[in-house]
Amino acid sequence: MIKVYPLGTGGAFTKHYHNNYIFELGDRKLLVDAGTTLRFSLPAAGYKETDVTDIVITHLHADHVGGLEEFAQRCMWLYSYKPNLWIRAELAEGIEDVLKAGLFTDGLQLSDYFHVHYEKDGFQLGNDYEIEFIKTDNLHAKDMLSMGFKLSDKNDNANIIYTSDIGKHEEALFDKHFDENTKALFHDISFIQTPVHSYIDDVIAYYSDKLALPSLYGMHYADDIDAVEIEKKYGIQMVKIQQPLVFP
Ligand SMILES: [Zn+2]
Repeated sequence: MIKVYPLGTGGAFTKHYHNNYIFELGDRKLLVDAGTTLRFSLPAAGYKETDVTDIVITHLHADHVGGLEEFAQRCMWLYSYKPNLWIRAELAEGIEDVLKAGLFTDGLQLSDYFHVHYEKDGFQLGNDYEIEFIKTDNLHAKDMLSMGFKLSDKNDNANIIYTSDIGKHEEALFDKHFDENTKALFHDISFIQTPVHSYIDDVIAYYSDKLALPSLYGMHYADDIDAVEIEKKYGIQMVKIQQPLVFP
């Protein structure tokens, strides 16, 4: 079973919580991205830092990594707790650059705060779950490393695909990762046209003959969007803050 708990669904400028998630996967809890609002969104959802067994960071924008420094400090100094941090190998230098001013004092390194795993293509969680990176370099923001992923539950023969932030979604080819067990596509959805996010009408047009639209879950949207109205208008689903989704 894959349980997706949305800590927030907002974009970078949200007054609420960033588009960060806890994926409950058997006895593991995977934090997907750690934006600057994590210090509020995690306790608001009833999770403690020590509940998070694993963390994956999709790219280095502040709404995805800006809360990781404080999270690491809290884990070490308040709880003597060291979760797993899964990082794309190519992001090794970048993530250290982001975190070093806050974390690398007195000779401390990233490996003092986390069990750090640099992975080329993805990673396994326990026996049942597999995360496969879907690299989207330059397709979210120019000259930026970014990725989505495919998360498979091998026990239940189910998988979901998660875009994270994506601009040129049609070049990212997320649909190439669809198979008969794909239960959902979590897709960046924007209601204004920008080069770094996916405009709603373009997403609908692209996927309407590639998957059943109710399997498309919009996320990372602005505060003033009426999610229920959007669901009615487009026939997709919108991820809503603190409303968990379970697959299959
Ligand atoms: Zn971003």
